[in-house]
Amino acid sequence: MSGLLGDAPTRPASEGVRELRDAYGRVARDLRVSLTDRCNLRCTYCMPAEGLDWLPRESTLTDEEVVRLVRIAVEDLGIDEVRFTGGEPLLRRGLEGILAECARLRTRHGHAPELSLTTNGLGLDKRARALKEAGLTRVNVSLDTLDRERYARLARRDRLPDVIAGLAGAASAGLTPIKVNTVLMRGVNEEDAVPLLHFCLTHGYQLRFIEQMPLGPPHTWRRTEMVDAAEIHRRLSEHFALSQEPAPQGSAPAAVWQVAAGEDHPAGSVGIIASVSRPFCGACDRTRLTADGQIRTCLFSRSETDLRDAMRSGASDRELADIWIGAMAEKKAGHDIDDVSFIQPDRTMSAIGG
Ligand code: SAM
Ligand code: SF4
Repeated sequence: MSGLLGDAPTRPASEGVRELRDAYGRVARDLRVSLTDRCNLRCTYCMPAEGLDWLPRESTLTDEEVVRLVRIAVEDLGIDEVRFTGGEPLLRRGLEGILAECARLRTRHGHAPELSLTTNGLGLDKRARALKEAGLTRVNVSLDTLDRERYARLARRDRLPDVIAGLAGAASAGLTPIKVNTVLMRGVNEEDAVPLLHFCLTHGYQLRFIEQMPLGPPHTWRRTEMVDAAEIHRRLSEHFALSQEPAPQGSAPAAVWQVAAGEDHPAGSVGIIASVSRPFCGACDRTRLTADGQIRTCLFSRSETDLRDAMRSGASDRELADIWIGAMAEKKAGHDIDDVSFIQPDRTMSAIGG
C-alpha cells in the first residue's frame, strides 16, 4: 500500500527518545488506541441498549492522524506495544492500512512495536489473514458465555457462532497467543466460568477473567454484586487443578495460574484480572488515546488532554510529544474504584477504548 506517512525513512531508533514518566516513577510502554466508539454489539456491562451518541466523523482521527500519533509514541516516547481497541476496531475501515504503517515503525530497541487488537470477534474469520499480513501480532477476543441464548441476551445480538468462527480464523492465521476476555456478572453468566475455561484449554486459547468495572451505562454496577477474583478462583478450583500460586505479574494486570491437564482437557493457564478488588495501578505502564484524539492517562480519568486540535492547528511532532509528556506527568497514583468517593467517568468503556 502507499505509505500514509509518505516514504520518508523512519528515524534511527533511540535518537532523542524521551519517556512518558509520571510523578510516581511509572513509565508508559503500552499504548491503547481506540479506533472508533461504534460497535455492532451492545454488551450490557458496556453500552446501553440504544447505543450512544457516536462521535461525528470529523471529530474522529483520520488514519493518517492515528499513524502520526502512534509514530510519535513509538519513535519519540518509548512506547513498545500498541493495542488497538474501541468500540469495535474491526469496524474501522482503514484498520489494515493503519497496522501496516505502524508495523514499519521502530521502537527505541530497533524492532517493530508489538501490535495487538481487542475485538468482539465478529467478522474476524474473514479478516484474520489480512490483519496478520498487515503486521498484527495477536488478538484478544471477548467472549462471556458459550450458551447462544445467554450470549444473545448479554450482547443483545445473536452472534455467538460468529465469535467462535472468529476465534478459529485467528488461530489458523497464526494470531497467537489468542487471549479470550470474559466478564462475569452475578445471576447472568457465573455458570459459564467452568465451560469457558474448558473450551479455551481445549482450543489452546488463554482465558482471562476481568472483574466488571464501573464503566458501563450509569447505575449498572454494584460493588456488592460483583463477581470478584477470589470467587472466580474458588469456582475454577472446584473443577480444575490450578497451581498453588499465580506466576509473577510484572506490569501485566492478570494473575496467571497454571492449569494441570485433566481427563478431558489439556494443560494450560488461566488469568484473573482483579482490577477492582486488587488494583494494579502501582505497576501500570499504560497510556490511552481515544478515537477523537484525547490522551487519557487512566481508564478512570475524569479529565483528558487534547492532541487532535493541537495537531490540526499545526503543532509539530515535538510539541505533540511535549503535550503527551505533560499529560502523563499528571497521572494520578490510582483510581479509587473501591472507595466510596469514586466517581464514574463520563465516557463509558466503549467510548474510552478498553
Ligand atoms: N469491542 C471490543 C471487545 O469487546 O473486545 C473492544 C472494546 S471492549 C470496550 C474491550 C474490553 O473491555 C472487552 O474485553 C470487554 O469485555 C471489556 N469491558 C467492557 N466493559 C467492561 C466493564 N464494565 N468492566 C470490565 N470490562 C469491560
Ligand atoms: Fe462492543 Fe466491546 Fe462494548 Fe461489547 S464490550 S458493547 S463488543 S465495545
